[in-house]
Amino acid sequence: MKTLETKSMVLLHHHLKALRLPTIGAEAEKVAAQAATDNADHLTYLLRLCELELLEREKRAAERRLKAARFPTFKSLDTFDFTARPSVNKMLITELARCDFIDKRENVLLVGNPGTGKSHLATALAAAACGRGYKVRFFRATELITTLIEARDERTFLRVKNQLAKLDLLVLDELGYVPASKVGAELLFDVISTAYERTSMIVTTNLPFESWTEVLGSERLTGATLDRLTHRCRIIETKGESYRLHDAKTRTRRTRHPETLANTTAPTPD
Ligand code: ADP
Ligand code: MG
Repeated sequence: MKTLETKSMVLLHHHLKALRLPTIGAEAEKVAAQAATDNADHLTYLLRLCELELLEREKRAAERRLKAARFPTFKSLDTFDFTARPSVNKMLITELARCDFIDKRENVLLVGNPGTGKSHLATALAAAACGRGYKVRFFRATELITTLIEARDERTFLRVKNQLAKLDLLVLDELGYVPASKVGAELLFDVISTAYERTSMIVTTNLPFESWTEVLGSERLTGATLDRLTHRCRIIETKGESYRLHDAKTRTRRTRHPETLANTTAPTPD
């Protein structure tokens, strides 16, 4: 009996490997013991195993999508302090994190001064999209422009464009920090117009619309870019001072006036 069981187990693991069901292989015995304790029938046992396999598969796929998105730093909505940024509507951000805007091919534009949480929110929303099965890629605008210029020179432009076309969500961070060259601006426009109504975009910028010509060069190109980007678009303004500055100021106040902190935390004497 023992040898038969061992032989069956070896065969089972072999078949599961061939069928690419590693989690079922790893969990089969443990779940069988649990099923015996619970008096669960065969179908319930099979169902539990399939659920575990599916969960693990989804987890690994989400991890792969997060890696493929190439976020410079990982940020989530859990760590975003909405009280520190009242101009940002928490309800709207929570709704965007459900990703309906991606199905509707809408865009999100985050506008505000440096340090006001634009990249944080863009990354957090894009990471939520990875978790929901969407294909995402994060680029700093200058990085994308450089990639496109290099691809054009190396004649791999179509390949890069095909990769971009496969995405569900393209994040363009820091549009406007560095003025683009004429070629760069045209290539960027090409990406934006190709994505228009096909791929959602999240764009972050420190520039008010009237200054975009300084970055993109020609007024015609700026007009056409803004037209495509802002059609069916949620605009979120991150008004106020830099979070880092605010953080630093709070820390300085605490070191300068430690008694303020001590007074609030120390127990009051009788
Ligand atoms: P921006 O892209 O607007 O220049 P970032 O998103 O890079 O700003 O924010 C700068 C730093 O401050 C990051 O480390 C970010 O996580 C943090 N930060 C900004 N706003 C908030 C906030 N409201 N809550 C928590 N952290 C924040
Ligand atoms: Mg940023």
